[in-house]
Amino acid sequence: MNKRTFLKLSTMAMTSPVLSPVLAWALGDKLKNWAGNVEYGTEQWYAADSMEQVKDFVIKEENFKVLGTRHCFNNIADSTNYFLSLKKMDKVVVLDPEARTVTLEAGMTYGQLCPYLDSKGFALHNLASLPHISVAGACSTATHGSGDANGNLATAVSALEFVRASGETVRLSRSRDGETFHGAVVGLGALGVITKVTLDIQPTYQMRQYVYENLPFPEVKQHFDAIMSSAYSVSLFTDWQKQRVNEVWLKSRIEPEKPFQPPREFFGAKPATKNLHPIAELSAENCTPQMGVPGPWYERLPHFRMGFTPSAGKELQSEYFVPRRHAVEAILAVERLRDQVGPHLLISEIRSIAADNLWMSTCYATDHRRRTGAARCPSALGEAVHDKSREAPFQLRKTARLY
Ligand SMILES: Cc1cc2nc3c(=O)[nH]c(=O)nc-3n(C[C@H](O)[C@H](O)[C@H](O)COP(=O)(O)OP(=O)(O)OC[C@H]3O[C@@H](n4cnc5c(N)ncnc54)[C@H](O)[C@@H]3O)c2cc1C
Repeated sequence: MNKRTFLKLSTMAMTSPVLSPVLAWALGDKLKNWAGNVEYGTEQWYAADSMEQVKDFVIKEENFKVLGTRHCFNNIADSTNYFLSLKKMDKVVVLDPEARTVTLEAGMTYGQLCPYLDSKGFALHNLASLPHISVAGACSTATHGSGDANGNLATAVSALEFVRASGETVRLSRSRDGETFHGAVVGLGALGVITKVTLDIQPTYQMRQYVYENLPFPEVKQHFDAIMSSAYSVSLFTDWQKQRVNEVWLKSRIEPEKPFQPPREFFGAKPATKNLHPIAELSAENCTPQMGVPGPWYERLPHFRMGFTPSAGKELQSEYFVPRRHAVEAILAVERLRDQVGPHLLISEIRSIAADNLWMSTCYATDHRRRTGAARCPSALGEAVHDKSREAPFQLRKTARLY
């Protein structure tokens, strides 16, 4: 879309009343997701900027989906009728230092929220690899970061407000609504239009990020738990070639009482000598600072910087979740497929996530956890980033979850 068309459409969207005539996204330009692999089924969308406009829209429109920041790789966000955008509803509603919560409008992104929170002396427990995504869209889909003890981003949600199909406003909270709340947080957009989200916050903290290169697979096999628990957040990036993990990213919190000493050698991996991108051929300019340079939590937890293209841009991602006890077995099984996946792959990422109690979460307590009664049962997660231009049509295309 050219700038003129964009400005014209934005102005129309800002001034259009509810149920205005069809608004085309762009002349000849289809509305797509971020990766461009999903062409949405309609170009009609409406941008609400108040609760009243949301309610009017919900009551008058029979079928629609909410458009977040369009980062999903699959067609979960697709609609053939209409889209509702809350992009303009992006303000902090209230920061409650006593309760340690922040309430925000659903159109807000982490990139907007985090610097605000930090400026007020607060932080979130974890972030995804990128800050560009909307808080409501990310939490609705159980978006995660990494860290043995860190639940996914949805676990920070302590209250929700959404508008149901009838136009009724529903408010649910963790403290008041028990299992109803646990069933609603990861709602995949199916319960209604989320208009406000309340998140748990904690005092702000600083972090350091260290990258190591060439971690031998035999070490991963033998010491997987020690490796994944060696820092606050750990990510392993591998192309599955040469029997090694290409890069290990360790993110540690700066805590005077628990100083983190980066080892000279990490299970056989050597410290990187400069900032790296997870895809080694790409510029590290898009990435958050490494080499142990201290910085705020929101500029170390994500791999990619706000204002820069996250990851590779033209790519597809698929994710596979396995219970922690099967992690090594699963990693070795994929490693055996290295010749088949290699030609289609940019990079894979292995992370760990704490179990949670949100019904639709990818990390919902497993049978294993219930049988053992363990308090936490982190899942291990593999993410694969495929080069779209080299993608085989029926291989690794859709997000898949294994339990
Ligand atoms: C480069 C890149 C890196 C990524 N990294 C990670 C990562 O590190 N970890 C991870 O877990 N995921 C990651 N993802 C996936 C991404 O976080 C998820 O797809 C997430 O859902 C994106 O949020 P969104 O707002 O863009 O969602 P959309 O694609 O816009 O929408 C997702 C779903 O949420 C619904 N929705 C959105 N807003 C609302 C609302 N207000 N009310 C009701 N329903 C709503 C939509 O209808 C849809 O069903 C990455 C994606 C990309 C492109």
